[in-house]
Amino acid sequence: MSFEILDKDLAGRIGKLRTRSGIIETPALFPVINPIKQVVTLNEISNIGFNQVITNAYLLRRHYGDLVKEVSIHKLLNWDKPIMTDSGAYQLLMYGKVDVSPEEILKYEIEIGTDIGVILDIPTQWGRPRNIVLLEVEETLRRARAALVKARMWDPDHKMLIVGPVQGGDKLGILSYSAEKIGELGFDIYAIGSPTTLLEEYDFSMIMRMIATVKARLPPGKPVHLFGAGHPLILPFAVAMGVDFFDSASYVLYARDDRIILRDRTVRLNEIKVDRIPCNCPVCRKYSVKELMSMNKAERERLLAIHNLYVLWEEIQEIKARIKEGTLWEYLEEKAGGDARVKSALLALRKGLRALLKVIPDESGRVRALHITSVESLYRPEIVRHVERLLNNYEPPQGCIVLVLPGELLDRPYIRDSIVYWLIDQLSTNNLLSKVHVVINNPVLGPIPYEISEIYPLSQHEYPEPIPGYLRLFSYHLLRKYLVKLRERGFTDIMVIMKENYGKIINELMNIGFKEVTILEAKSRQELYALIPWVIREIGNI
Ligand SMILES: [Zn+2]
Repeated sequence: MSFEILDKDLAGRIGKLRTRSGIIETPALFPVINPIKQVVTLNEISNIGFNQVITNAYLLRRHYGDLVKEVSIHKLLNWDKPIMTDSGAYQLLMYGKVDVSPEEILKYEIEIGTDIGVILDIPTQWGRPRNIVLLEVEETLRRARAALVKARMWDPDHKMLIVGPVQGGDKLGILSYSAEKIGELGFDIYAIGSPTTLLEEYDFSMIMRMIATVKARLPPGKPVHLFGAGHPLILPFAVAMGVDFFDSASYVLYARDDRIILRDRTVRLNEIKVDRIPCNCPVCRKYSVKELMSMNKAERERLLAIHNLYVLWEEIQEIKARIKEGTLWEYLEEKAGGDARVKSALLALRKGLRALLKVIPDESGRVRALHITSVESLYRPEIVRHVERLLNNYEPPQGCIVLVLPGELLDRPYIRDSIVYWLIDQLSTNNLLSKVHVVINNPVLGPIPYEISEIYPLSQHEYPEPIPGYLRLFSYHLLRKYLVKLRERGFTDIMVIMKENYGKIINELMNIGFKEVTILEAKSRQELYALIPWVIREIGNI
């Protein structure tokens, strides 16, 4: 198996998975194909742009049996591109039992020529007691180990990629155990057990927690599939947490109830009060709402299903574009802005990404400015990482005096600002550099040590003006923490030059235990410039 990661943003990635029937570009959505009664033809699905589908090996076996082995699944469906097959686990979940063993269905998947086969596991049912879930997870792990042994025997050339499902549902402790154990087994692809119930209840927050739990424990180079999460509201959040594959039966299930999937919501056909569905897909271009309403049910279902697929396809394209541009975070903020339930996904993502920082690419090579637009922006991985490094890893230079400059009056990158340049030059000429630690107080990001001021995003960021109060508070909070650290490292004196006298906040800052505290005010660059010779003299005297 080869899974090549081409681009990353947050924990999301664009990749290529090689299968024997062609390459799947990720993030990818697999439309679910009903092998008995398919509403939208595979030809139409291909025309929309999908390169891969998923169907059910259990149903194929029940209805067509050995015939599929003879003609191959690709011929039967008339689809020569990649096919994934599920194994009947869904039927197990729905009806409590299936009349096939895990070995039989695995062998069948190999024999019919599936490109990606899912093993028959025990899906976790919601609301089951913990001890039962744990027993079922142990059974899934036992089946997973057995499946890999059997697959090596039945498919020695490893033509079929095998999916190892992680079960445990919302029992996060068990889910975490399950991910760790199955992650050791070397499956080609991992899948997260179906959160369909959560999706129906719009509990995006729990889905995000499940993904974070699993992703932190699986081998980072393997693709991850999230079962049953085919809605544009959840797709970009799941991708941002590192999910690569999705499947969707939603396109047809929604169409059956006259529900229309849009990029940011779902609406019922009869709720649309204008002539046209606000969409530009071929179906919506051709038919008015009235025409759709007056059609017979089967034809309407087919057309709405096609529309739904177009919307899903477009959403995947948007996500890919955002990863390439490095603006996935901005997109998520935008998406969360209009819906409280989606907002909860963003909040859970914030927490989840913290746990995944080690797999999120370091942005230090980036040139695009980071836009700080809201309080959410402060939780971007770039900023979280900067704060962690500053407070926990950064080793400040030795010295006894901290000099804090007002960031509002300086140009970025600070290292090239003429006043900063002149100050450093003067300190160096007077042999004072070893005494002083120069810190620029950025009004949003807080303390920026001169030495690291060129690192991304410390000089490559934009913030709104006038600066909102919450951003200022964040920066003071950080400045205070950093000054406490410097005090602990043996700095004794501090000189702070502020643009305005922030009174109470400054007093709080100073209440840290420095022996000598000097506070100066500079309202403009000229005033700051005029202060420098005095500052140099004072430092010389200490
Ligand atoms: Zn449409």
